[in-house]
Amino acid sequence: MKTFQIPSQTFIRLMLTLEDHYHMDVPYHNSIHAADVAQSVHVLLLSPALDSVFTDLEILTALFAAAIHDVDHPGVTNQFLINSSSELALMYNDESVLEAHSLAVAFKVLQDPDCDIFINLSKKQRQTLRRMTIDMVLATDMSKHMSLLADLKTMVETKKVAGSGVLFLDNYTERIQVLQNMLHCADLSNPTKKLELYQKWCSLLMEEFFQQGDKERAMGLEISPMCDRNNATVEKSQVGFIDYIGK
Ligand SMILES: [Zn+2]
Repeated sequence: MKTFQIPSQTFIRLMLTLEDHYHMDVPYHNSIHAADVAQSVHVLLLSPALDSVFTDLEILTALFAAAIHDVDHPGVTNQFLINSSSELALMYNDESVLEAHSLAVAFKVLQDPDCDIFINLSKKQRQTLRRMTIDMVLATDMSKHMSLLADLKTMVETKKVAGSGVLFLDNYTERIQVLQNMLHCADLSNPTKKLELYQKWCSLLMEEFFQQGDKERAMGLEISPMCDRNNATVEKSQVGFIDYIGK
């Protein structure tokens, strides 16, 4: 806040407004998930291998992106929004619907001068922050997981750890790639937390999925994987998630 001269009143107003725009009646994708992901990004930013790797602006962006990444999430998946011909899917042409919507909501909130924590940034800094925030939040779309992982593997294989063990990233593509993966990892980090917490997150997520399944049943749509409360295999799904995604 000192580095970017963020007025504390404005910061508090932005946080409260964002919190308002998360849905407390959504079991998993609510403001507590946003706080959890922001906290997890903070922890990842403190990794010794990332010491002095990122600029202050990149750190600010990573925390901001984490805080907003699911804002106004309605508690159903992109596929559900597409299959049910929702307004949101129509608006964003079926492409990363939820992620695009959260970004739009967050930047709309920032247009209110009372919530604009970036008021003292230069025009150039604001442009860079916006570009990076968009790139990071769009990369939380699970349909981008495989390509994100493939690109990260290529980077790990081809370089880039100096003798000191600190990562060396010399252009935007490489820097944003690590930042995107950082937010994506934090977003999927439930299984890395204490078992007690993991179980809690997991039951909240399952409840959200089951509520979507109930809607699909009522609408005569095919029930999505893991969303049928009468036919759930939670443990199996989690082992699959850890083996194929988390690891
Ligand atoms: Zn999320």
